[in-house]
Amino acid sequence: MNLFGRQSSRAEDRFEAWLKRMHQERVLSGETEPAGPCPDEAFLQGVARRSKKISLSDPRIDHAANCAICMNRIMATRQNIRTERRKLAFGLAAACLVVVAGVAGWSRHEMHHRQTMACVAPVSAIVDLWNTGTYRGEQPGQLQSVSLPSAPVRLTIILPRFSSPGQYLIAVTRDQNGNGVIAEGFASTTASNGQERVSLDLDLRSAKAGEYFLSTTHEQDQAAYYYPLRIKDRASK
Ligand SMILES: [Zn+2]
Repeated sequence: MNLFGRQSSRAEDRFEAWLKRMHQERVLSGETEPAGPCPDEAFLQGVARRSKKISLSDPRIDHAANCAICMNRIMATRQNIRTERRKLAFGLAAACLVVVAGVAGWSRHEMHHRQTMACVAPVSAIVDLWNTGTYRGEQPGQLQSVSLPSAPVRLTIILPRFSSPGQYLIAVTRDQNGNGVIAEGFASTTASNGQERVSLDLDLRSAKAGEYFLSTTHEQDQAAYYYPLRIKDRASK
């Protein structure tokens, strides 16, 4: 499951996102000259919602891409869409917690064993993606493989070069399409030595040893990046 819709595993997408951000900064600081008048609100809403009815050859697209006023409107609409989506995602997470709490209460007598398991201290792990996929044309097979134990993990991820600060959805999944989520959680970046990092706890106890994917999805880029991940039995680490 991918909460943000679009997904991609290609390093160049991240480079494109970075270029896009650089362009946006130029437009918003008034360094570009838009041609023609500002299009109406309905058109800008359509652009923000990526409506398929809007043709990319429409000259109004060209205008909006170079106009600070239009871009601000589009970004405001996109922010609203993201807020709605995030509310939905957090709502679903909260609903899951309620279900989990209910099940836990119901099977209290059988909880003793699991509670002892839950008290196991998380294993700290750092995954360094700084040099991952920064070159155009790099094949996913060349990405370094990361390995984590089948245990509660206190995970710190050093995000790849060019990564935006902000909130990320971090997930461990069975495949590269976001299916079979083992564990996931939201985390905000902290900057350290010029690198963006996220830290969160992931419970990987339910994962059997084998090959998985670690994914990072930025709340704004809406593209998920997948990294090969090996999960090892806790005893055999
Ligand atoms: Zn305009």
